[in-house]
Amino acid sequence: MPTLFHKIIRREIPADIVFEDEHVIAFRDIAPQAPVHVLFVPKETFATLNEVPADRPEVVGRLALAAARYAKAQGFDQEGYRIVMNCNGDGGQTVFQIHLHLLAGAPLGRFGA
Ligand code: 5GP
Repeated sequence: MPTLFHKIIRREIPADIVFEDEHVIAFRDIAPQAPVHVLFVPKETFATLNEVPADRPEVVGRLALAAARYAKAQGFDQEGYRIVMNCNGDGGQTVFQIHLHLLAGAPLGRFGA
């Protein structure tokens, strides 16, 4: 079932894309929760983190390292930033194509229930 992130990957709906390579696309969140809020999405389809096979750690690693590189390029590596992946209902996942949130640009509050 294609999600809106698949439509962004296929350029069927617009997005403010800040990074792309053969495996990953990154674009600004439409409802930013911090001054910088970018979503890093694999081009391969996985609905949730639960679906990423144990022998495919690179799927998640690429997202984390792409986010870290972007944060460093934007000058946030020393002040700091947060990366988050939500999973299913209690995790607050609303789009069922895995993605990693990068939040930066201000001190971030604590999070939890
Ligand atoms: P989740 O809640 O699944 O972890 O994160 C989904 C994110 O996608 C949310 O932060 C939401 O604001 C963002 N989002 C939803 N629809 C769109 C859209 O059409 N374009 C962009 N760029 N982000 C979206």
